[in-house]
Amino acid sequence: MTSTAIIGSGPAGCYVADQLLRLVPDASIDILEKLPVPFGLIRYGVAPDHQSTKAVSRVFERVLARDTVRFFGNIEVGRDVRLAELLELYDAVVLATGSPRDRRLGIPGEGLPGVIGSGSFVNWYNGHPHVSAPAVNNVKSAVVIGNGNVAIDVARILAKGPAELAGSDLSPEVLSWLSSQPLTTIHIVGRRAALDAKFTDHELAELGTLQRAQPIINDPASLTGDNAVVKTLRSFAEAAGRDTPVTIEFHFNRVPVAFLGGQQLRAVEFRNPAGAITEIPAQLAVTCIGYETTACCTAAPAKGVFANEEGKVGERLYVAGWARRGPSGTIPTNRVEAQQLAQKITREIADGQRSGGEGLRRLLEERGRCWVDYAGWRRIDAAELSTAGAERCRQKICSLEQMLEVALSDQLESV
Ligand code: NAP
Repeated sequence: MTSTAIIGSGPAGCYVADQLLRLVPDASIDILEKLPVPFGLIRYGVAPDHQSTKAVSRVFERVLARDTVRFFGNIEVGRDVRLAELLELYDAVVLATGSPRDRRLGIPGEGLPGVIGSGSFVNWYNGHPHVSAPAVNNVKSAVVIGNGNVAIDVARILAKGPAELAGSDLSPEVLSWLSSQPLTTIHIVGRRAALDAKFTDHELAELGTLQRAQPIINDPASLTGDNAVVKTLRSFAEAAGRDTPVTIEFHFNRVPVAFLGGQQLRAVEFRNPAGAITEIPAQLAVTCIGYETTACCTAAPAKGVFANEEGKVGERLYVAGWARRGPSGTIPTNRVEAQQLAQKITREIADGQRSGGEGLRRLLEERGRCWVDYAGWRRIDAAELSTAGAERCRQKICSLEQMLEVALSDQLESV
């Protein structure tokens, strides 16, 4: 029986495990995750008001629950175990570490308080234990840079009122920050034309259904061309205006030039195709311009991904998901890609009689490392669901210490 270690428990990693098991039902698979909780982008990237998208985690739960699958949460490759050690212990190793770093614009003022990358912002509103609230307050105007679906998510979460966010898993702290901002305007700014926007029509159209906010097109003449996104933008331009406390204003053909401010952000400067410079006043700017992968122990990325040939990085080392192809596609894209990768791994890898998960367990015990297994995750999950209350579907535990306390409670009790 072959053994595989998958580094990362987001959709890419879980789909690879799922597809490997479809080909070899008794394959031994260990999923390592640096946080105590699984599911990566599903838990910390997908918007909290899109619970139907998060529901794919039920498929992944079934994978983690399989007899031959082990979850090693709270284990970071490079800190607790080296990549070279995993390659000795397992027949195959898969990097499924995603793209955790925000791309940067590289323009003046990017470090000002009030300027934040979408990865951090999205992690924050999803209750990630390593990210705190934006370092600003009194946000009346927010600029969202980028014309992809992440920009739509960010704008929608800012735009919705508390009633519209009920039933999500936004934490009370996040909700309190959002509702305490005197927000009146959200600007979504693209560097190219509306026709080139990467929004999907479905996500864009949702902005026209909000209660607290309405989308506005300041320059309907800029809506040239004819595709589904442009048609939806035109429908926004043609809609009868409503009296809403917040407006979402679209701007196209505006290249970001600088973030302006002294102690904190005051405005964002843009250049139009004629070279003219304009300013949009803002106390918060979220750059939604994509992500890059980061090194995993000795594996170093180039141009934001791990160089690979059809998912193969080196001898018995593979890569999947955003760490392989960059931050593109939807969650099901990972399933298709995982199917091909699982076939490749199954073709190329033989049973090397390696010690696999047993060997990893011994190594971690020798080092005194404490990990969260699947039962530990289930305890966190149960605690989060049982404390949810009527307002939300889940009360996420947002501190690492608390997660470990809940996950390891049976071990602590037996000491
Ligand atoms: P994206 O779709 O690639 O959009 C990135 C945006 O940033 C583009 O408009 C791009 O403009 C712009 N950009 C890049 N560099 C820039 C720069 N230097 N200055 C100004 N603008 C710049 O990426 P994303 O929105 O981060 O989404 C990542 C993936 O997740 C996508 O595949 C997306 O569809 C998916 N996603 C899906 C959902 C959903 O289905 N509900 C939700 C969230 C995310 P150019 O086009 O000019 O390069």
